This record gives sequence, structure tokens and C-alpha cells, in this order.
Amino acid sequence: MSSRTVSEIGEHALISRITARLAMPPWVLVGPGDDAAVIEPERGALDVLTTDAQVEGVHFDRRFVPPDAIGHRALAVNLSDLAAMGAQPRAALLSLVLPGDLDVSVVDGMLDGLMTIAARYRVALIGGNITRSPGPVMVDVTAIGSVRPRRVLTRTGARPGDEVYVTGTVGGALVGLRSLQRTADDGVGAGLKTRPYAVECEEKYLRPEPRVRAGLLLGRNRAATACIDLSDGLADGIRQIAAASGVGIAVDEDAIPFAEGVREYHQAHGHDPVCTALAGGDDYELLFTARPSVRGRLRAVRQQAGDLPMTKIGVVTKGQQLVLRTASGARDLPAGFEHFR
Ligand SMILES: [Mg+2]
Repeated sequence: MSSRTVSEIGEHALISRITARLAMPPWVLVGPGDDAAVIEPERGALDVLTTDAQVEGVHFDRRFVPPDAIGHRALAVNLSDLAAMGAQPRAALLSLVLPGDLDVSVVDGMLDGLMTIAARYRVALIGGNITRSPGPVMVDVTAIGSVRPRRVLTRTGARPGDEVYVTGTVGGALVGLRSLQRTADDGVGAGLKTRPYAVECEEKYLRPEPRVRAGLLLGRNRAATACIDLSDGLADGIRQIAAASGVGIAVDEDAIPFAEGVREYHQAHGHDPVCTALAGGDDYELLFTARPSVRGRLRAVRQQAGDLPMTKIGVVTKGQQLVLRTASGARDLPAGFEHFR
């Protein structure tokens, strides 16, 4: 089979190759092929817009992140942001920045991953752009969603007395990333492949599932007072909600739903398991606060979201203090992950 590169096939042929895969819903009045897309707004709803880029060498390593996972992650991280706002995803724009010597099959693979998750959440890819990169592969996605005015979730609504919840499990994506890195560095079999939890953690890193349905239901049921998605770790999420809402938060260490293997992995590598797991990003779960009186509504949300676990991990307090309560006392919440550091 002859393989061709991006420069050999050329920009226009590459764009046609991608647009041939797309189907436009009726509310897309002008789709790919013109200077810009034109869409009809959803009646009675607000538009929610977000953008996030995945950069080779910063967000992913092509030695162990396959093309379909690059495409999946590029859209998933944006859908996760829409979920955190309580929005229904609708459309996305895709900007590809590619080195000329990149094999076209890599582009096809990235599109495979992106189109699969787009179909799952009924997101229409309505336009984009391809530019030459001097080196790394970059995939930049803009996602557009809609939400009814009274159902918008933000980071600012947490009040003292609210309970703090997190969906799913945390810490798994970091362990998955470390496992993939080790295998790539040391050769096949030297990673965590012998551990039963490694595959699940790797999958969590490679193909995170944005909590779209849970976010929608939390907004629709008016169950949450504040919400954020966990891109940069649980500690960072707690910090962001507390700062935006002007409150403190106390987290119970024993209540945190760490993914299977997280404690074991960090302990085995000589790290404080809780600190490391709290700082580990890429989980894309939702962290939210809710009044204690809406526990019934939360149960309904959980059921309708396919029995997605929602674990109470702490409470919102007066003042600005962020503490981690342990069996032996309380300490300051460890710092989270920050870009540019
Ligand atoms: Mg976010």
C-alpha cells in the first residue's frame, strides 16, 4: 500500500477528503465550502462557545497516543467544557495544523476518532481550516452548544452549606499516562501492562468520556449550584469553584473516589498517593456543588445519566479556606496542575 504525505496530497484534496465524510443537519444553512458556516440558533436557547487546542509534545505524544485518540481527545475536552456549563453540544469547528511530511493515514485516523465521538453526541462538524505546521501536530477545536437561560451552570454559585460532588472516578488518567509513557520509554512490557487496572487507566487518558448527559441533567433539574469539569485535577477544580464563588471548601480524603489502582501505583513509585492523585489532570469528570435539600433530584440525575456514580466528597464552608480532612486531622489542600509551570 502506498502511503502519501500531507504535502503530496495538498490542502484542497485533504479538505475534500474530510468534507466528504460530513453530513449537515437542517439547521446548518451554509456548511463547509464557503468562507464561514452559517447556523440557525436554537429557539429560546443561549449559545455556549468554547475552544481548546491539543498540541503534540504538550498534550499528547505520538509514540503512544494513536491518531484516533488524538481526534477523540480534541473534541472530548471541548464537550467536557460544554457539559460543565449544562449545555447540549451542537456543532464544532476544526483547525488542523499539520507538518507537510505527516502521513495522510494519520489525518484519516484523527478524523475517525473525532467523527466517532461527534456522532455519539450528535455534534455536526460544520467547518474548519488546515494550515502547515513547522513541526508539531496541532488540533484545535471550537465547540458550540445551546442551553436554556435558567439552566446555565457556572462556577460562581456555590454557597456555604452546599455539598460537593464529583462524577465517576479521579486520578486514573494520570496513572494511564504514566503507564503509556513507561511502556514507550522502556520498551514493550516494561510498563504496567501486568496490572489489571492499567488498561482502564490508559483508556481513561486516551479516550476520556465527557459527562455530557450528566451536565445537561444537572442544569435541567436545577440540581447544581456550581459546576466545573476536571481538566487540571481535582485540587484545581476545588480551587476554581471556591475562588469563583468566594467560599471555602473542605474535602474528605477518604470519600474521594480514586480510580482502581491509583493509590497502589503512586505508593509503589514513592509518591504521596493522595497529593499526586489530586494534582493529576485529564480525568474530565464533573465537580459540582448542590444544596443538601436536592439529594432526591441528584438521585434522579444519576439514574438518568446511566447510573453514573456521583460521590459526595466534601462541603462548602464560609471563608476562603481549602482543607483536606483526613482521619488524623486536617491539612491544606495540595496544589493542582498549572500550565506554563
Ligand atoms: Mg473546563
